[in-house]
Amino acid sequence: MIHIMKCCICGKMAKAHLLILDKNICSKCENEIVEAEAGDENYDSYQSQLKKLFK
Ligand SMILES: [Zn+2]
Repeated sequence: MIHIMKCCICGKMAKAHLLILDKNICSKCENEIVEAEAGDENYDSYQSQLKKLFK
């Protein structure tokens, strides 16, 4: 059974991939977070998105 959920990072509908507190992070965004390094221009925005999840 495949769940389609809104990705909480990019906001697109995607196959449920990585669920954190019932929020989905699609595989594309997960890869970008994993590959992002401190100093990358996207790193801070990913970090802040993730922090929102854990509030
Ligand atoms: Zn995404």
